Amino acid sequence: MRSSPKQGSRALSAAVAALVVGAACAASAQAHPGHAKVTPVAWKTVASVDLAAFNKDLVAGKPTMDVAVYVPSNFDPAFKKISVEQMIDGIRAAKEIYAPTGVQIKLVSVKTGVIDPRFLSIQANEIPRVPDTEYLNSYEASKRHPTELTQMAREAFESVIEPDKDNTRTLYLIGLQDVIMPFLELAEGRNWTVKMVRTGGLSFPSYSYYNTIPEAYRGAITITNLSTPGRARRTIAHEIGHKVMNVSHEYKTTSPAHEVYADGGLMLYGTGVDVPAGEAGRWHLERLLASPYLYRLRSDGTKQWNPDYKEGGHYYDPLYGQKAVQFPGQSKMDPNW
Ligand SMILES: [Zn+2]
Repeated sequence: MRSSPKQGSRALSAAVAALVVGAACAASAQAHPGHAKVTPVAWKTVASVDLAAFNKDLVAGKPTMDVAVYVPSNFDPAFKKISVEQMIDGIRAAKEIYAPTGVQIKLVSVKTGVIDPRFLSIQANEIPRVPDTEYLNSYEASKRHPTELTQMAREAFESVIEPDKDNTRTLYLIGLQDVIMPFLELAEGRNWTVKMVRTGGLSFPSYSYYNTIPEAYRGAITITNLSTPGRARRTIAHEIGHKVMNVSHEYKTTSPAHEVYADGGLMLYGTGVDVPAGEAGRWHLERLLASPYLYRLRSDGTKQWNPDYKEGGHYYDPLYGQKAVQFPGQSKMDPNW
C-alpha cells in the first residue's frame, strides 16, 4: 500500500457511506446487476519478454515466489505511468532487493490484452465502517473487522486473473490506471473523516483482507504508477512485501500506527530496502520465509509449497507461531474526550 498514509483507520456515518458507495457503484450496478457473469480477458503473451533469460539465474531448491504480470493494452492515451518494460524493470529491482534474504523471484508469465474499460479505474475496498481506536492495535482491529473488497474490484480480478492450479500461491501484478482506497482519519475531537487515496500500488494484503478476498485472487497486487525513480525501484518490491511478509508499514521500533515516512526498511515509505530479522526486526525475514507464496523446486521439477495460512492469514495467524509482534493500540484523541 505504497500511498496509504495509515493502515487501518476506518469508519463513517451510515448516511455518508450509503451516499458515496451508492454513487461509486451506480454505473456498474446498472450494467452488471448483482454478481453478473464477468467476461474473462483474452490475454496474449508478450513475445518480446524472454522468460528463460529473465529466470536463468534461478537456483533449484532455493525459496522461490512466482510472479505473473498483466498489463492492459487499452489504457487511455493520456495514461503513461505503467508499461510492460517498467513492470519488468520493477521485478528485476525486486529480485535484487530480495536477494539478501535468499528468496528468489520467478517470472512465470507476462501478458497483455484488452480489459473492460470500467476496470481501468476501481475503488479497491468499501469505506471502512469502524475506525481504529486505542483499545486494539491495527492488526487486531483488522482481524475483528477485515477490509472488504468492493464488488468492482472483485469483478476486475475475476476478469483479469486466469484460472490456474497455483492461483492461491501466485503473485499477480496487475497494471491499472487508478486504484482508489478509502480510509478513515481522525479529524478533530471524536470525529473521523473519510479520505480517498490514489494508490501507486496496492497489495490487498491478507492481514487486512483475510477471509474477505476470494482465495483465487488473494495474490492480486495492483500497480498504477512506476513513473518516478523511487517508484520504479521500490514499489513492486514493497507491494510484494505486504503480501509475503504480511505486515503493514513498520520497521524495527516503528509500529504501524506510528510515522511511516522514514528510511531503512522496505516496508516504510522512504528509500530503504532492508528486510530485518528477529524480534528486533519484527520478524520480517522469518515471516517472509514462512510465506505460503514460497516454494522450493524439488529435483523432479515439482514444487514443495510452504504450509498455508491456518486462519486465512491475519497478522497473528498461527502459521507464524510466536513470530508476530504484540504492541498496544494508539489514538491521537485527547484521552479525556
Ligand atoms: Zn505499503
